[in-house]
Amino acid sequence: MSTKQVVSIRPFNRTTYAYEKLQVCTRCGQYTCLWEEQCTACGRGTLNSVQEKAASRVKRRIARDLFITILFGTAATYWGETIDQTMMAATISLLLLAGLIFVQQRSFQIEQLREMKRMLEQDEEIIRQGINRNWALVAEARKQNEALAYEMLREIGSLVYNDRIRLQQVALLQSFVLRSDMDLQLKPLLLRSFERLLAEYIGEIARLKPELIREDAIRYIATYEVNILQLHNGIQILTSVVAAAVRKSKYIELFPSLITRYARFMPKDRFMRLYHTIERYPNKARGGLAESVGRVYNEKYRDQYADVHV
Ligand SMILES: [Zn+2]
Repeated sequence: MSTKQVVSIRPFNRTTYAYEKLQVCTRCGQYTCLWEEQCTACGRGTLNSVQEKAASRVKRRIARDLFITILFGTAATYWGETIDQTMMAATISLLLLAGLIFVQQRSFQIEQLREMKRMLEQDEEIIRQGINRNWALVAEARKQNEALAYEMLREIGSLVYNDRIRLQQVALLQSFVLRSDMDLQLKPLLLRSFERLLAEYIGEIARLKPELIREDAIRYIATYEVNILQLHNGIQILTSVVAAAVRKSKYIELFPSLITRYARFMPKDRFMRLYHTIERYPNKARGGLAESVGRVYNEKYRDQYADVHV
């Protein structure tokens, strides 16, 4: 009997850049990549996104520049000895001010980006400490709520790239009952070495969300095919992945020998898809794949189709 837990997992908020996951405390300068309301270092509700912090630093610099320009302009106007001099000083000051505002408005976004890069470089060590603090919280959360622990690891995993955090996520995912309506990931979880849990997870993903099976996942399965065959459900895993792979002719071309070995175990609709793709693009079937698929078709399906086409 399965001992997997039924859980609900919140959808993952995907960002264009990893740093968008970071929040920084404007009070104590500590970073977090979780969704806390309050800073876990100083306990205050003063967390801001790094973009906001960079923007506020740039704004402060702009305000300082404007203030200095106005100050000098006013002084020059005040100290003018004749009306002409005063007018001249006032005009130049206003032109300078207008020029400065124009330039700063145009370069604000570039400046904000530059400031953010500077912040992230300077604070690299503090960011690392913050993420480690986040990671330490996962162990605590895991005792109470494993789905929450997974969600936390998923956030941390968008900034930390190592096999340990990938494996922790896969292990939790494999203790849940997975469903096709869950927001699941595969690419960020691919490990460098063979891991039974990951192979089983890929097999489940292939059945639930075949669209997530892409070249790198198929390559993982192909690389560790021998190890997977030793698992009690090894053939099912390999067959599910191959069945998901044949949806694209590109993968048929890339993995002909893997597909050759498991084509006969695939569900009929998947097999027929492969058969028709090869019929349409015979040059995609390299290394004897076409012959092998033809043989399986003749053995298992030809008679059924012959009836249909009579
Ligand atoms: Zn703080």
